Amino acid sequence: MEYILETQNLCKYYKKNKVLNDLNIHVPKGAIYGLIGKNGAGKTTLIRVICGLQRPSKGNYCIYETENGKKINYVRKRIGAIIETPSIYFDMTAEENLKEQYKVIGLPIDDNLKELLSTVGLKNVDKKKVKDFSLGMKQRLGIAIALVGHPDFLILDEPINGLDPEGIIEIRELILKLNKENGITFLISSHYLDELSKVATHYGFINKGKIIKEISKKDLEEKCKRRIEIKVNNVQECVKYLEENKIEYTIKEDNIINIYSPINISELVIGLSKKNCIISDLHEKDASLESYYINLIGGDDNV
Ligand code: ATP
Repeated sequence: MEYILETQNLCKYYKKNKVLNDLNIHVPKGAIYGLIGKNGAGKTTLIRVICGLQRPSKGNYCIYETENGKKINYVRKRIGAIIETPSIYFDMTAEENLKEQYKVIGLPIDDNLKELLSTVGLKNVDKKKVKDFSLGMKQRLGIAIALVGHPDFLILDEPINGLDPEGIIEIRELILKLNKENGITFLISSHYLDELSKVATHYGFINKGKIIKEISKKDLEEKCKRRIEIKVNNVQECVKYLEENKIEYTIKEDNIINIYSPINISELVIGLSKKNCIISDLHEKDASLESYYINLIGGDDNV
């Protein structure tokens, strides 16, 4: 798999505080990668380090196959980022803000600024100063600024913080559109798990400065399917029974089986015992992404 961003044992220490602690992340090309972690987990610090705003204490990071901030100017032209809040001049119009960004990254203003604004859904804002924009409009302008120079990797730190439901939907649709139509890869940090799950194709769960799990949307959905997990003494007979009764299942490990079809538990117990198959453990697994995350953070990747 081709990764736009990859780190190896990346560390960032503030005195004795290990904010990034042997962190390994892999962001595939074309992905919308949701970086999920609670307050203080290290999300912003990671983003600051990979954007070249802070030096790592140890370890390596590689963006577009360039290591540890080498060729930073080349890398900066290929990535756009909004870290914490977008850098916007409130006393200027949207177009004036875009022109400033061209100066900052040292590119000539040869683009159609109106087209860029229209890409992020900002139309007819010619004369309006940014201070009169809604929070959602400011956030979309932030994304337009990050898109100056046509980057193919956008890094958004908590992009929906403080937005109302309408603003959240607009940002979500914009992210999906830019990913699908412009092929832009995203790294989005958030602690709004539900919201991220509406856009993310991949997830990285960060806790205490470490990525404790990376998983694709497809695999996560599989793991979050409501199911009953049973431990049996005779897998062969159990499988026979499940197949005869057209019950959907997967074998997790040696003697543990996950059952996905709705079933009557006492019928299952009786049916299996008739085949000399005894259930020694049975529990229902919660289906929500939230509970998967809580289990993970609790150190129990029980899937
Ligand atoms: P949040 O969701 O609250 O923004 P986060 O996951 O983005 O959290 P960071 O902002 O990366 O977390 O902070 C992680 C830890 O690093 C926190 O304990 C914070 O206090 C500490 N930290 C961040 N920057 C510095 C700094 N410049 N000096 C000392 N400690 C810092």
